[in-house]
Amino acid sequence: MAGGTLIVGASQAGLQLAASLGQFGDTKPIALVGEEIHPPYQRPPLSKEFLTRASDLESLALRAPSYYADAGIDLVSGERVTEVALSSSGSPGSGVARTASGRSFAFDRLALTVGAAPRRLDVPGAGLDGICCLRDRDDAADLRGRLESGARVVVVGGGFIGLEAAAVARALGKEVTVVEAADRLISRAVAPVVSEFYRQAHVRRGTRVLLSAAVSGFEGADGRVTAVRLADGTVLPADLVVVGVGVLPRTELAEQLGLACDRGIVVDAHARTSNPRVHAAGDCTVQPHPVTGLGTVRLESVQNAVAQATAAAASLLGRPVGATPVPWFWSYQGDLRLQIAGLSTGYDEYVVRGEPDSERFSVLYYRQRELLAIDAVNSPADYMAVRRALTDGATVPPSAAGDPGTPLKTLLAAGRAAVSSS
Ligand SMILES: Cc1cc2nc3c(=O)[nH]c(=O)nc-3n(C[C@H](O)[C@H](O)[C@H](O)COP(=O)(O)OP(=O)(O)OC[C@H]3O[C@@H](n4cnc5c(N)ncnc54)[C@H](O)[C@@H]3O)c2cc1C
Repeated sequence: MAGGTLIVGASQAGLQLAASLGQFGDTKPIALVGEEIHPPYQRPPLSKEFLTRASDLESLALRAPSYYADAGIDLVSGERVTEVALSSSGSPGSGVARTASGRSFAFDRLALTVGAAPRRLDVPGAGLDGICCLRDRDDAADLRGRLESGARVVVVGGGFIGLEAAAVARALGKEVTVVEAADRLISRAVAPVVSEFYRQAHVRRGTRVLLSAAVSGFEGADGRVTAVRLADGTVLPADLVVVGVGVLPRTELAEQLGLACDRGIVVDAHARTSNPRVHAAGDCTVQPHPVTGLGTVRLESVQNAVAQATAAAASLLGRPVGATPVPWFWSYQGDLRLQIAGLSTGYDEYVVRGEPDSERFSVLYYRQRELLAIDAVNSPADYMAVRRALTDGATVPPSAAGDPGTPLKTLLAAGRAAVSSS
């Protein structure tokens, strides 16, 4: 490529950025360079439908193969960008990138959509065969094959991906143990009441859940894992181990460019890095809190990747960037469908609607009585009502939210009326 836009990282955010440039009328060449050999695909099904065999590899693709040429996007797969430099002369933002295989890409504009890599456990035996992670298509295909035989599965990490994988393994009839270092499940994202609900729900389905349990190492025979050792001396026999202990944003190229990084590539609400000529979007970034503007957050979601990449495209072209949308997320653990709207970070109060034991309830989060977010378990109407309210700047008084007999959308309408009359 000799000029145009270089997007490093060909996945949810990178593809969206390329597509949005075209939709905004950009006619310059676009190179979308990705390390993986597969064209951009969806990751969420990897721990859900794909793992259960309800979907296949072909259905994961984000676009039909013909899309890229039709949209004028030069998709370069299987190339890892290892070096990138901005020129000190020439147009602002121009430079050159090189890949591990020696290809070079000159650009006028640069965007980093490099995502995140799974965090590995640094304990003895971590390299044994049968210890798997779940980040990309190849990981998922490998895990899916291994689930056909192993009877005892230990999942290390009680976050979303670990619990989704545990639900699949248990539904396949495996003996499943989840090992979580914190004292509750999904502790970074949900309130204790939701954590406890998930613990009980997984236990009801036959999964063993160990909290405050640290892995100290793995045991093996003939190079294959046979057990997980915990710090308290417990030994859990295992034929297969799934490690889901979070991700590390890929900041190596940003660091080469001298961009500010702090648990991710620091960007503003327009997806501009500390060098405003370079943009970044998706899992690799940290951004101002999209709801309150207070502090920074790193969001790992499809919604964020798409929204931020769209903002980056507008910003790269000097177009106005729309208001930051309300974040939303989902996690399907077997028949437990969690939908989240907003961000509960910083909440000082929450209200539970419905009865967690019925496996159908929601939790509304507030800060200083301002509605922040909802976690809705098998309650899509509550989720939709709060998502719309957050988008419209409406609220519902915490005192009324707990009444499951009154549909939330009725309460939210009342909240909206109160807001507009005040
Ligand atoms: C198993 C799983 C389940 C998930 N489930 C959900 C869900 O239910 N709901 C939800 O909202 N989100 C879910 N997510 C999260 C969601 O998939 C991510 O937030 C989204 O994929 C982020 O997109 P991204 O483009 O920012 O990063 P990524 O998808 O990580 O893509 C980054 C790409 O950049 C490439 N790359 C990195 N460095 C280089 C380089 N130097 N040169 C070239 N290429 C490079 C990588 O190989 C990768 O392909 C899930 C993720 C996983 C892994």
